[in-house]
Amino acid sequence: MIEAARRQTRKYFGKTIQLYAPLYLSNECVNGCAYCGFNSKSQIKRITLTIDQVAREAGYLRKQGFQHVLMLTGESREVVPVDYLREAVKCLKKIFVSVSIEVYPLLEDEYRNLVEAGADGLTIYQETYHLPTYRKVHPFGPKRNYRFRLEAAERAAAAGMRKIGLGVLLGLYDWRYESEKLAQHLRYLLKKYWQTQFQLSFPRINPAETKFKAAHPVTDHELVRMICELRLAFPQVPFTLSTRERAELRDKIFPLGITSMSAGSITCPGGYSLGVKSGKQFEIADTRSVKEVCRSLVAAGYEPVFKDWERSFS
Ligand code: SF4
Repeated sequence: MIEAARRQTRKYFGKTIQLYAPLYLSNECVNGCAYCGFNSKSQIKRITLTIDQVAREAGYLRKQGFQHVLMLTGESREVVPVDYLREAVKCLKKIFVSVSIEVYPLLEDEYRNLVEAGADGLTIYQETYHLPTYRKVHPFGPKRNYRFRLEAAERAAAAGMRKIGLGVLLGLYDWRYESEKLAQHLRYLLKKYWQTQFQLSFPRINPAETKFKAAHPVTDHELVRMICELRLAFPQVPFTLSTRERAELRDKIFPLGITSMSAGSITCPGGYSLGVKSGKQFEIADTRSVKEVCRSLVAAGYEPVFKDWERSFS
């Protein structure tokens, strides 16, 4: 299965890996997600960047070579309203070729508003498709609304978002169940919104401020199995693997199906250029610099790609 997955990935994507960076804008959050360091009960310093600070963080990432950025916030419509998101997208669009967002679920018109401002990608993980588990790990806050989150990808696709990333937080419930439901969700969206590019990610629970323990930990072997099975089921769908995973593991498994990876990531707002060290969403496992990640890819015979159409690392 590993060999078949590797072959399929090379056939449709070649030996290239697209690199992107996450950019945290705010760690304010009104939700109580049991697994997340930003949850409203966490005793962390809350920060929301001004648009000038967003531009400084973006400038730092641009100097590292990134052309793709993923802009993230917690969920607080009061502190981080859609108007702020729009200004941030406009600011980032002046600096990067591609701006994706990972923010609280929006209404269709709100997604349209951000698409018009320049956002071309959305990441929205259901976290778990298993409703009783979903209710347990989301004890309060707007995120408790399972259905509103489930239908967010569809609202974004209808609003014209070009790329949409789906996933589950591995460790919350049985990975086999999650994998099957994720595949069903993806199949439905691919059929209905054929003009949108859908992607999958495979985040596993990492230590956060909450010290949350995964009830259904997913082993490395099971992670590989899930990636390979989904690669064979969806040969043309891009897959992402983040710095939540250790460097050695990322180096081993990316050829089996992965097409984009984050690098040099920091998970708190202001962590790149503003000297902020606390208030992280979760701990990063692959702490290599962008250059080190690129070197590993090149050593394995792959090309790190910073833009869709240009290979720019040598
Ligand atoms: S996962 Fe998102 S919504 Fe939940 S506490 Fe963390 S930032 Fe807030």
